[in-house]
Amino acid sequence: MTRRPKVIVVGGGLGGLLVACEVKRRGGKPLVLEAGPGAGGVAATVRDEGYLLEPAAGSLLLPHPHLSPILEAAGARVVPALPAARRRYVYNRDTLFELAGPKSLATGLVSAKAKLRMLREPWVKPTLPDSDESLAAFLERRFGPEVGRLGATLMAHGVFAGDPSELSVRAAFPAFVALEDQAGSMVRGGIARMRARPKGAPRPAVHVAPSGMASLAAELASYLGDDFRADWPVESIRSDGDEWVVTGPDEERANTAVVALIPSAAARVVPEELGTVLAEAEIAPVAVVGLGGRSADVPAPTGFGALVGPDCDLRTLGLLFESSYAPDRAPSRHRLLKAIFGGGADPSVLALDDAQLVALATEEAGRILGVAVQPSWTRVVRHSPGIPQYSLGHPEWLDRLATASAPGLHLAGWAYHGIGVSSLAQHAVRLADELDSAGKARGRA
Ligand SMILES: Cc1cc2nc3c(=O)[nH]c(=O)nc-3n(C[C@H](O)[C@H](O)[C@H](O)COP(=O)(O)OP(=O)(O)OC[C@H]3O[C@@H](n4cnc5c(N)ncnc54)[C@H](O)[C@@H]3O)c2cc1C
Repeated sequence: MTRRPKVIVVGGGLGGLLVACEVKRRGGKPLVLEAGPGAGGVAATVRDEGYLLEPAAGSLLLPHPHLSPILEAAGARVVPALPAARRRYVYNRDTLFELAGPKSLATGLVSAKAKLRMLREPWVKPTLPDSDESLAAFLERRFGPEVGRLGATLMAHGVFAGDPSELSVRAAFPAFVALEDQAGSMVRGGIARMRARPKGAPRPAVHVAPSGMASLAAELASYLGDDFRADWPVESIRSDGDEWVVTGPDEERANTAVVALIPSAAARVVPEELGTVLAEAEIAPVAVVGLGGRSADVPAPTGFGALVGPDCDLRTLGLLFESSYAPDRAPSRHRLLKAIFGGGADPSVLALDDAQLVALATEEAGRILGVAVQPSWTRVVRHSPGIPQYSLGHPEWLDRLATASAPGLHLAGWAYHGIGVSSLAQHAVRLADELDSAGKARGRA
């Protein structure tokens, strides 16, 4: 019989919660220790004067093979986004372009020469397996300099608030590399994948937490019941025989400890050898600015939002039309926009104070939308240390972490194997599989 050990999870952000909920879903016994007063970590929804602003994760693509079962088991509520979520925009060269599948090719978003070069992608030779390139180098090699640079900037801004020439494509966008590795081309690989989809399988679509991600995190925590402990700052984690001793306001012991903290915080509590490698993590600060007001004063097209391309002088990386695609994000007849600044793409923008950031967001939102924006409600949320950057060298850093770690001590969260919540769920499932195998081995011993 499988002996399921108690698993201590340090950190009650979405990363730690998903690991703990997956362990519990399988019949295991997790214990989450969280320093703060509640669950959710950086996904700390702001609710104020009828506005609901998500300062971190705001949308999820569901169904997802790993995330959906955990959310369902925990009874965490998600609802489909409004149909507007399907409409996406790009702002580049002082123009707002709507991305509407192949029809976007007919717009002036890229030149005719670049379109012709892009069509040669299926015949571009793949690079050596296991080699790493920056996101920009990879996409420019495959699709040509103009389309590659544009695509890399949009992907880097939209997912990591990152610099496309610094991000490792293999670490940050492994699915792109997998298409090239498997099919020799992203286009051919993408078509093969679409054909392989089971007929009638639901297509993943944007979903949101109706009362915000902080409520979703609270629902995950309440699934854990008394095994979620808030106000429990962990001070150290050390081994004692085959147990891990976790010390904070009290002491807890287990065969397995999962540290789901941002690496700089993890480095302070784990054994020194691992802490030294963790301290090298690359993280960049980010600011999220909410702009709310009457619909006439805060206009927004129907859609999800606009990503900002490489050929403009804006510091905004992306502008999300929050109240257009998610219900109840603003009071009736009011709207909410969300602008993202900073990251690896532009860390120095964080030197601006809140009033300057609001002024910048307001002015640039007006330029993106082509109309004056006059918010009556504003909010700035700063994330520090911020968003992990999977730069060139990230895969080797992960190898060094694995070498410096010890049996029964694991890392989880958005700094390692994927930055979005679905990647956190995928990693939680992989970790739970490993823990099950370790439990079986112990049972046989
Ligand atoms: C601007 C922005 C937009 C985003 N948008 C999306 C999106 O739309 N969709 C998506 O899927 N993802 C999105 N993300 C990513 C998503 O928010 C993260 O993947 C996720 O919230 C990270 O969770 P985590 O648990 O790894 O880290 P954290 O949230 O940092 O959690 C770590 C937890 O550990 C606790 N802690 C720290 N020190 C200690 C200690 N010593 N003892 C105990 N506890 C401790 C902290 O209080 C915190 O609760 C976005 C992120 C940002 C910044």
